[in-house]
Amino acid sequence: MPHTRPYRIFNAACARLEDVTPHLRRITFAGPEIAEMDTWAPDQRIKIFFPTDDGRVPAMPDADDWYATYKSVPVAERVPMRTYTIRALRAESQEVDVDFVLHGENGPASRWATNAQPGDRVQISAPNRRAEKIGGGFEWKPPAYPRHVLLMADETAVPALAGILQELVARPVPPPCEVFVEVSDRADALHLPTWPSLTINWLFRHEAGDPRPGDLLVEAVSRATLPSGNAAEAQVDLEVIDIDRVVPWELAKATEGAFYAWIAGESEAIMSIRRVLIKERGIDRSLLNLMGYWRFGKVYE
Ligand SMILES: Cc1cc2nc3c(=O)[nH]c(=O)nc-3n(C[C@H](O)[C@H](O)[C@H](O)COP(=O)(O)OP(=O)(O)OC[C@H]3O[C@@H](n4cnc5c(N)ncnc54)[C@H](O)[C@@H]3O)c2cc1C
Repeated sequence: MPHTRPYRIFNAACARLEDVTPHLRRITFAGPEIAEMDTWAPDQRIKIFFPTDDGRVPAMPDADDWYATYKSVPVAERVPMRTYTIRALRAESQEVDVDFVLHGENGPASRWATNAQPGDRVQISAPNRRAEKIGGGFEWKPPAYPRHVLLMADETAVPALAGILQELVARPVPPPCEVFVEVSDRADALHLPTWPSLTINWLFRHEAGDPRPGDLLVEAVSRATLPSGNAAEAQVDLEVIDIDRVVPWELAKATEGAFYAWIAGESEAIMSIRRVLIKERGIDRSLLNLMGYWRFGKVYE
């Protein structure tokens, strides 16, 4: 009897690798189970389980309580698990693409992607095509007719950003949209969809003297086109979040509205952007998605 729960565990193997830019490697995973994979939004997140350095291949059970099972294993014995985005799914061909930032060999996921060879096996927790209803795992839920969209991303959110722009450009009338995207080098600026009311601002760390990741996005938010703020909004007390322990993740609540923002990247940068937008510019926080995708110097599973 096929599973009907929203998510399931898929067994897959690396089929192909392509360096989209010097720091972004597309890995195509293939396997018969991927015929049953689904994706519900351009920022659909998935969990990937990687082999251990001593070669233990992930063997998570495909069960409702996989997360509890995973957490019940002592940390030293767990296979590494990290969060990624479905860049493209071709269920009919039993293939899914994931774009990995190559940030060095200091983390198990980037290390795996740097050394991956066709045939290397992983497991993926991802949406189930047989799900009775759509689950979660995505935050891009814009109003039908936003008058202005602000997108801010670093390289880890570029896969989602590229998918979001593909979705917007396919609309009969794509909305006015301003994008700020921070990457390491000019060569990391990949080709993105375009339309007349879209502005893409690439921010290159290397050309700016290699500031800390996210600093250029924080600096850029002051240049963003924003709706007029509200002095009362600026008075709100922002909750303090210990970003070394908790992933900052605040979501837009509005279903309709003139302005909509989707902002993802390094957690400290996200916290600074949150302060600028809400406290300095008085932007209604219900219009903002603010998502910490990683934490400089720390590990989020
Ligand atoms: C919803 C969501 C979707 C994501 N989608 C993608 C995606 O599609 N592609 C992608 O590449 N990443 C994506 N990420 C980010 C990815 O999960 C993190 O970068 C993760 O830390 C990588 O794991 P790792 O094992 O390589 O490094 P970790 O073991 O987690 O960290 C080891 C060290 O590397 C540092 N580090 C981690 N990431 C980076 C980085 N990008 N640049 C520089 N240093 C870093 C950490 O600060 C730490 O010091 C996503 C994250 C979330 C929450």
